[in-house]
Amino acid sequence: MTDAAASTATPAPIIRMEGVNKWYGQFQVLTGIDLAVRAGERIVVCGPSGSGKSTLIRCINRLETVQQGRIVVDGIELTAGGRNVDRVRAEVGMVFQQFNLFPHLTILENCTLAPMRSRGMGKAEAEEVAMKYLTRVRIPEQAKKYPSQLSGGQQQRVAIARALCMSPKIMLFDEPTSALDPEMVKEVLDTMISLADDGMTMLCVTHEMGFARSVADRVIFMAEGRIVEQAAPREFFSNPQDERTRTFLGQIL
Ligand code: ADP
Ligand code: MG
Repeated sequence: MTDAAASTATPAPIIRMEGVNKWYGQFQVLTGIDLAVRAGERIVVCGPSGSGKSTLIRCINRLETVQQGRIVVDGIELTAGGRNVDRVRAEVGMVFQQFNLFPHLTILENCTLAPMRSRGMGKAEAEEVAMKYLTRVRIPEQAKKYPSQLSGGQQQRVAIARALCMSPKIMLFDEPTSALDPEMVKEVLDTMISLADDGMTMLCVTHEMGFARSVADRVIFMAEGRIVEQAAPREFFSNPQDERTRTFLGQIL
């Protein structure tokens, strides 16, 4: 393609999955996954328990490998072999349901560890970056504490700050509010909304349909390892096409 043609074409997606099939032993967990995500796009992934949502997003930072198909993340070919793993992990941040903070490290140390170890950042700079993101998630005053001294909502905001310290281009969230007491859900969703407002590319597995309605550009519904349906939230909620989507929405709304 010429430069002129490239500049008028739609930009290449930052995440591309093509014909992805994955098995755990005999069990096929992902079937025929085709997915293209544009830079800056906010995607919510929902679907029944066991439908393959976690597996799908874990493939994007290569926490899972696939047997068939192609996955390209920001030009990094994940299906080409092992050596691209570190590159992709540096670009893709992930936040889990169970915060996964290091219990023996302070909040600040949790945030500085990866930038110092895998980016070779000096301690002073890593701490400065960490404080910037802890301020961003509104808990700079907790920096010297240990995870067990924080509430669940605070710990999850630390987990988000920790991921941001690596300057990721993409953020993956796997049910980030499911383990929280109800009164703490909002503070974590507000943090995610502020990231979305800043243009972060985000894939969020969540059943927070209010978040999906107000933040997502696209809602993806999975069942039995397939993407069954996807649409902009307004269309997804008002006019679900597949019977399984209707059943699912009937159960959670
Ligand atoms: P979801 O996040 O939608 O609940 P998962 O991606 O966690 O679904 O799991 C999809 C299916 O794959 C489930 O049936 C689950 O039991 C199975 N599964 C997940 N991880 C593994 C694993 N490491 N080994 C074998 N089966 C797994
Ligand atoms: Mg899951």
